[in-house]
Amino acid sequence: MKRSVMSALLLVLVCVLGAASAAAQATAAAQVIAIRAGQLIDPETGTVTTNAIILVEDGRFGAIGPNVSIPRGAEVIDLSELTVLPGLVDAHNHLALTYKEDPESNIYYLTYVLESTPLRAIQAASNGMQMLSSGFTIVRDMGNNGDYADSALRIAIEQGWLPGPTIINSGIIIGGMGGQFWPTPEMGVGRNIVYPEYLDADTHDEIIKAVRQNALYGATVIKICVDCKPWGYTTDEIQLFITEAAKAGLKVEGHVQTREGAERAIEAGIWSIAHDSGLDDEMHKAMAQKGIFRAGTETPLTLTGHTTEQRYERTVAGLKNAHDNGVPITFSTDADYYVPGWTRGEVAIEFIETWKAAGIPTADILRAMTITGYKVSETQDTRGPIRSGMIADLIAVSGNPLEDIDALRDVQFVLKDGMIFKQGGVMTPGAFFHGGPVNGARIR
Ligand SMILES: [Zn+2]
Repeated sequence: MKRSVMSALLLVLVCVLGAASAAAQATAAAQVIAIRAGQLIDPETGTVTTNAIILVEDGRFGAIGPNVSIPRGAEVIDLSELTVLPGLVDAHNHLALTYKEDPESNIYYLTYVLESTPLRAIQAASNGMQMLSSGFTIVRDMGNNGDYADSALRIAIEQGWLPGPTIINSGIIIGGMGGQFWPTPEMGVGRNIVYPEYLDADTHDEIIKAVRQNALYGATVIKICVDCKPWGYTTDEIQLFITEAAKAGLKVEGHVQTREGAERAIEAGIWSIAHDSGLDDEMHKAMAQKGIFRAGTETPLTLTGHTTEQRYERTVAGLKNAHDNGVPITFSTDADYYVPGWTRGEVAIEFIETWKAAGIPTADILRAMTITGYKVSETQDTRGPIRSGMIADLIAVSGNPLEDIDALRDVQFVLKDGMIFKQGGVMTPGAFFHGGPVNGARIR
């Protein structure tokens, strides 16, 4: 009797242990994804590998190559009819700003008066998903986001509440009095209506304090108005920004609109320059020599009302000149407006029209949209390239963008942080939504 009870107990124990280990194996197997890529592009070299297997485990890339064997129990994703490539980067956008024809006649000063930061933060969450659906896995969000809606978006995505691109965000743009606005005294002085779109910093002490405020409230890059006003910032003042930002591990991007501003920003050794209006051949040569990134925000003529024919011609010539001079050129859009019928991602990808018009070779366009984007975002060692050990972000398209860059308009598949966001051309974001901060609540 006693012996048979013991054998029965032993049998139960063996069964329980067996079941537990089977469950553990199933979990381990479920964590492995094996992607069959018909073609795999490496934008660094502009080369293609055919019939590659890409393993993804615990959100990171494992073995990659034509001869990789698929582990038993792995989830196999068949992209053998598609071209797989790393995720795209928009190096200059404003996800929590969407100005429109109705009601504000495309004047963003009015958007800021009419729409609250909480409303704009929700719009940013939607814009982020629209960008991700078009293949943008990283977005540099460069200010004009109300009272730190950009920090909120970044933190919510990093904590695991919702899907979105990896966000590099600037917090509030810092400028001399008024920022990019020209308010009336009763609005500017009386109601402080420039804030929170711009942080006024006119003196040495104010510059230090403004940088620290942005770092404190979650900025991961600093954005300054170099020459939005005639008073602008001197080379010394720009260097003060760079030194102070560096204490928090942050780089500085300058909004530049004049040649004089560009000269001062380049002399100061700024990280990146936004917009192309102050940049000419001489500035490009200096930028190439110092390795300063160019976020030219080259609006295509097809986005009616957002550039003029004359302006566009200058933009195309400037982009071509920057490319010829070997400037580190990023793909950047400044796409912060509503085009009825289009998603934010579709507006952003439309900017390849300008790059085509400038005659930039497709391999170089692709490099700007990926490798140079990772570098300006400082993610190149953690996220971006499809390489063993990196965080697993990738996209897949129907054609081959090395042959026809317009293939990027048809993103069929998106993997972000090792999870499927889009498959068969349809967003399938279920895995990204959580009722709590699954990646930790202390992310700032
Ligand atoms: Zn901008």
